[in-house]
Order: sequence, then C-alpha cells, then structure tokens
Amino acid sequence: MNLVLLGPPGGGKGTQAKRLMEKFGVVQLSTGDMLRAAVASGSEVGLKAKAVMEAGQLVTDDIVIGIIDQRLDQADTKNGVIFDGFPRTVAQAQALDGILADKGRKLDVVVEVRVPDQLLIDRITGRYTCGKCGSGYHDIFQKPKKDGVCDSCGGTDFIRRADDNVETVSKRLTAYHDQTAPLLPYYDGKGLLKVVDGAQDIAKVTEELIEILS
Ligand code: AMP
Repeated sequence: MNLVLLGPPGGGKGTQAKRLMEKFGVVQLSTGDMLRAAVASGSEVGLKAKAVMEAGQLVTDDIVIGIIDQRLDQADTKNGVIFDGFPRTVAQAQALDGILADKGRKLDVVVEVRVPDQLLIDRITGRYTCGKCGSGYHDIFQKPKKDGVCDSCGGTDFIRRADDNVETVSKRLTAYHDQTAPLLPYYDGKGLLKVVDGAQDIAKVTEELIEILS
C-alpha cells in the first residue's frame, strides 16, 4: 500500500504516519525529517535547505524529488510507503507518479488530514519531541506523565524544531495554501482523494484512517 498523507503543518500527519506504520507494515517517508537529518549532517543538500527551511519556505522540487527517488530504491519501501510532507507541489506530485511508475508501483490512496488554520498555530508552537526516542509531546495537549521525563523511554532531553515558532508557522501555512492545496483537486481528479477531520482526538483520527485503508 502506498499512501500520501496531505495536510497543513501541525495537522498531525507525522503522528498518524507513525501509528499506521506498524499496523500496515509500511514505512513513513517524511521529507521534513530527511531534510532535517541532511541539515544536521552538514551535507550538500543540508547546506542548500537550511536557510529555506528556517524561513518557512519550500526547498526546491529537484532536491526533494531526488531524495524520494533514491529512498524508494531501498528494500524496506517495497511493502509500501506513507508519504508524509511529500509531495508539496503539483510538480512534485507529477514527478512522484513518474517515479512510482518507473519502479512498477503506484499510489493507492491520498488522505487529506483537514485542520482549520487557527488550531495549527497552537499545536505547532507547543510541540516537542524526546531527543532519545522521538516520541512527540505538547506543552498543553500532550504532556508526559512525569514532568520532564519521556513516557516511552525515560529520556530527559527534549527537542523543539527551529521552524516551530509563530512567525515561521504563518509562512509555512501560506506556503501550504498557495503551493500544496492545489494537490487536493489534482488527486481528487484521479479519484484517489479521501478526507479525515484532523481536528478530532489523535485516536479518533487514527481510527478513521484505518477504516479508509482497510
Ligand atoms: P515538515 O517537517 O514536513 O513540516 O517540513 C519542514 C520543512 O522542510 C518545510 O517547511 C520545508 O521547508 C521543507 N520541506 C519538507 N518537505 C518538503 C517538500 N516536499 N517540498 C519542499 N520543501 C519541503
């Protein structure tokens, strides 16, 4: 199964992708995570992407298409993939169609995780992850059971993303509406698009996604 999770920043795509991975035996491909790893490693791609990401803009189509094309050659993707944060432009979506066709694969479904803008700013500016295991938390909506200690692994170091601040978030939302939202009619026209209400509880969204994918 190859699935695209489409939705605004902070809409819960990453959280849901992690929950679906185990259930369906597929891998999550987050271009945001891959780019952050490239920035951290100081690679050529990372050097090109850093300032653009910090400004809340989209990195060039060529860079992300290249990353995804290479990643899809790895064996763990053969069972299926959840694309999280990719594609983000119509050009990326068209490239993905071509890449998958070349590899004898195809997209099965695209799900829009729909969340109103006013909810997203609060969600994004309060979120952080465990530096050891990557579990996600939030200052208000999802605190660890014991203050400062990760529920999953006991880690005590937490990370906040450099681009999760109020100014950058509004730029990321503008990029979403201008450049990514046109993917909704693109996939609807292909008969692939489904919608879930991403403003609901995390567990309820997962339940609806599982229903769609089963
Ligand atoms: P995300 O973790 O998906 O919110 O992505 C963080 C940032 O990485 C975005 O604001 C963009 O600067 C960049 N990025 C991630 N995925 C893409 C993509 N498919 N196309 C262009 N830029 C991307």
